[in-house]
Amino acid sequence: METLTKIWLSSPHMGSNEKRFVEEAFRTNWIAPLGPNVTGFEKAIEEYLGNGTHVAALSSGTAAIHLGLKLLNVGPGDEVLCQSFTFSASANPITYLGARPIFIDSELETWNMSPELLEMAILQRLEEGRKPKAIIAVHLYGMPYKVGEIHAIGQKYDIPILEDSAEALGSTWAGQHCGTFGDIAVLSFNGNKIITTSGGGALVSKDINKKEKAVFLATQARDNAPHYQHSEIGHNYRMSNVLAGIGRGQMEVLDERVEARRRNYSYYHDELSGITGLSFLPEPKGMFSNRWLSCLLFDSYAVREKVRAALLDENIESRPLWKPMHLQPVFEKNTAFVDGTSEALFHRGLCLPSGSNLSPIDLERTAQTLKKAVQ
Ligand SMILES: *Cc1c(COP(=O)(O)O)cnc(C)c1O
Repeated sequence: METLTKIWLSSPHMGSNEKRFVEEAFRTNWIAPLGPNVTGFEKAIEEYLGNGTHVAALSSGTAAIHLGLKLLNVGPGDEVLCQSFTFSASANPITYLGARPIFIDSELETWNMSPELLEMAILQRLEEGRKPKAIIAVHLYGMPYKVGEIHAIGQKYDIPILEDSAEALGSTWAGQHCGTFGDIAVLSFNGNKIITTSGGGALVSKDINKKEKAVFLATQARDNAPHYQHSEIGHNYRMSNVLAGIGRGQMEVLDERVEARRRNYSYYHDELSGITGLSFLPEPKGMFSNRWLSCLLFDSYAVREKVRAALLDENIESRPLWKPMHLQPVFEKNTAFVDGTSEALFHRGLCLPSGSNLSPIDLERTAQTLKKAVQ
């Protein structure tokens, strides 16, 4: 039997100029974690996001979260309130600093951090005499979190927000780009994200001093001296000039990538939303999602698993929604403010193939396989 070509969940999609920027790095011998591509990539992101943002290109989104928390003075013994429904990279860096994540469940309109549970957690921690040091809110799957409400709570209790925008480059809330709302924001250019540098990330801030401090910490915290002198512990977290070349090419096609991912979502929505027991996550008013991954919910875990297995049989990659952090063995002893929302999403939800490079035939094969499985 002939094997069907594999349909990936979210694979890299190069444009036409990435190679040119990379070759330029070779031609000029800028094969280092600094150089014109790094500067050019940062400038392209700053222009795209607007709003007076400053960007530091780093080796990964995880590194950006680590440095971001450091810049918010998170340290040993501190508590950080973190969205539970996310990828582990949102929470892991809290522990690198000797601090402890406290997990907050989601609401159903955006699948992101619940403002009610967030405020409940803050009040409870304050009662215990422990003021949380920071909040990590995530625009999961590209859907903005409730920016207005979450940031009003941060302001009310004077707790800074680290905005995890790793999945949301190209999304907007009230017409303003995700990645511009937090005291610090974070982007990722990992291989499966909406644009990629194979591996990479960025720290975003409106405060140029924060960008400069991030670059300082990302390059081993070297003091200004002719010899190597250090007054602080540093990291090796800067982005390579070779990879930043890929990023410059990818920034030129970012808007096309967002359009293509949104078209995938619309296709699935139009083809499948008539099926009973199946639902999508619509965009709340004022929100624009890059639809990084097209997600849908089934009636039950059993149907979800039946569909996932049927897709796999046809060589189509799909994936359950993120397993919440408060259900992860590594975090099961952590305090959590939860109401079952993200647990239910995890059990019933599935991400469909969502790459910007999928063909109409790929989309049709996926939708038809899914339909057959549920009928
Ligand atoms: C991908 C991702 C990260 C981490 O980014 P890397 O570049 O892979 O380190 C952080 N948070 C979320 C929500 C992500 O999806």
